[in-house]
Amino acid sequence: MILPQYLTRTLSSVDPRCLQKVAWNFGVGAGMSVLKFKRRMKRGEFFPPFLYISLLNSCNLQCQGCWVDVDKPREGYSLDELNRIINDAREHGNRFFGLLGGEPFMHPELLDLLAQHPDCYFQIFTNGQLITAKKARALRQLGNATPLVSIEGTEVVSNERRGGVDVLNRTLRGLAIER
Ligand code: SF4
Repeated sequence: MILPQYLTRTLSSVDPRCLQKVAWNFGVGAGMSVLKFKRRMKRGEFFPPFLYISLLNSCNLQCQGCWVDVDKPREGYSLDELNRIINDAREHGNRFFGLLGGEPFMHPELLDLLAQHPDCYFQIFTNGQLITAKKARALRQLGNATPLVSIEGTEVVSNERRGGVDVLNRTLRGLAIER
């Protein structure tokens, strides 16, 4: 019974422009990129249907087991480099991209990147803490990205495992701004 409730809530509360982008860019676009991928495989060419791009190696948290070296942050990809990666993938028919970090919202040109590829769809893997009202508004206007927000356990467990203070509440505040 969860699925009908989820669908009803999504259809009644999500901005219609965002729903349209999900249906077209992600639904149709990603489906087409899988078909193109299968055709390429038959020709013996390998290029994946989806790319997951690590934008930068910096984060505002320090989760246990995370590969990101927060003590030695390295500069991330520039906007030009990211555009090159995405444009190359688009030439192969790709339309869906996962954006990871570190923390993608620490990348100063994240929103510019989304804006420059309105026919693509992006899933942003984030701890949600750096989503401000301004960024949430921009995401809503663009409509071509969904933040996938990570939460780990209770308030106490979150602080312990994610190396911060007030970790859970800061993430929940970021989620509330999205609504
Ligand atoms: S929020 Fe993600 S990137 Fe940041 S430290 Fe935790 S697991 Fe690593």
